[in-house]
Amino acid sequence: MEFKLTEEQQALKKEYDDFFREEMKAAPSEFRQNSLEAIYGTVEGWEFHRHMQKKLAEKGWLTMAWPKEFGGREAPIIEQLIFSEVHAYYRAPGIDGFGMGMFAPTLMLFANEEQKERLLGPIGRGEVNYCQGWSEPNAGSDLAALTTTAIKEGDHYVVNGQKVWTTGAHRADRMFLLARTDPSQRRSSGLSVFNVDMSTPGIEVRPIHYMDGKHLYNEIFLTDVIIPEYDLIGSENEGWKSTRATMNFERSGVGSFASAKRMLEELLEYVKTTKRGGKFLYENPVVRQKLAKLYIDIERGRALAYKVAWNQEKEKFLLSATGASASKVFGSELFQRITNFATEIMGMHGQLNSSKWAPLGGVMSGGYQWCMGMNIAAGSSEIQRNIIAWVGVGLPRFK
Ligand SMILES: Cc1cc2nc3c(=O)[nH]c(=O)nc-3n(C[C@H](O)[C@H](O)[C@H](O)COP(=O)(O)OP(=O)(O)OC[C@H]3O[C@@H](n4cnc5c(N)ncnc54)[C@H](O)[C@@H]3O)c2cc1C
Repeated sequence: MEFKLTEEQQALKKEYDDFFREEMKAAPSEFRQNSLEAIYGTVEGWEFHRHMQKKLAEKGWLTMAWPKEFGGREAPIIEQLIFSEVHAYYRAPGIDGFGMGMFAPTLMLFANEEQKERLLGPIGRGEVNYCQGWSEPNAGSDLAALTTTAIKEGDHYVVNGQKVWTTGAHRADRMFLLARTDPSQRRSSGLSVFNVDMSTPGIEVRPIHYMDGKHLYNEIFLTDVIIPEYDLIGSENEGWKSTRATMNFERSGVGSFASAKRMLEELLEYVKTTKRGGKFLYENPVVRQKLAKLYIDIERGRALAYKVAWNQEKEKFLLSATGASASKVFGSELFQRITNFATEIMGMHGQLNSSKWAPLGGVMSGGYQWCMGMNIAAGSSEIQRNIIAWVGVGLPRFK
């Protein structure tokens, strides 16, 4: 594989770089640390996200790799990768990770023609934002244990149950929901996927606040919620198949390695300008070794994510579970290694998050607190390794 960008690709990268550098000057200060917290956690952050979503849609950058029939221009996957890397590097908003990143490719693979026509347009134009209605109080890693039911009555389904940890549900227009359509069947059999309008009567969103009051996550209570039959995605009781594809879309991605690169660059600046005991931190051999190791890991992770994307192009949007899980577990644990090491060498000040004394504007201490959740969200590290052992390494499945 040729890793060097062509002149044309370099010009594209420069265009994206120039755009985000300029646009992010107007971003609320929360985006300095963590774009997801900034998007869902504050009104200003959400407004800025919507503003950027519109701009990216106008430029055609949300759908560049989509098939032409759905409003894309079938750009080569490398262009999409360059864009995603630059977008993540600047901690920029404007992309709905749930609608654009997970549900749209699922729709392309599993929805009927009417649904593609009706649902993909608003996502591609950045008009709607989704949330992910999967986890329940007794169904997280073991998602197939979920008990929310969707029972068919005439031309609609009646939904009852509870979801939890639903990121951004308080801002979302729609949700992709996984529910049990056949309660007589167990586990992954008898589940179905639905497109749900969040303003439907019977949907109650309750916040789960951070200790400091921030609000990103929610519980959702569903009581006699009516979903029209035309919003069932794919065949009834066959929802597990499409959900497994959606999981892989969630887990792949070069964004985490581009964010890691940005953090490493910030850390390098810190060690070059900060002294301990009369010497710059970069003069410490242990610091140098650890930074070199992080650099190698970022390059390794990036190559892994590129490989996943390459496979995706070959397989027409379907993703290999092994590649997606490997990219997810390596990316989230790498982020943890960077922030652990950074807060370690920053000493007491490294614990500060929002103070003028916080090194690098608190980005490392914020990341240190955030990384625990990253190793659980989208399937914990243990679950990713189980998948790799089973599907990738070929070990017998351990139930
Ligand atoms: C930041 C964040 C955002 C989230 N956003 C959403 C969202 O938007 N929508 C949504 O539906 N869900 C969301 N979730 C929920 C997430 O999918 C679940 O937390 C995750 O799947 C783990 O489930 P659990 O929390 O119930 O933990 P459990 O499944 O109870 O796991 C507890 C521990 O046991 C381990 N474990 C469980 N099973 C096994 C096994 N078979 N082998 C080895 N170890 C095992 C796990 O690794 C973990 O360490 C989010 C979670 C987080 C942290």
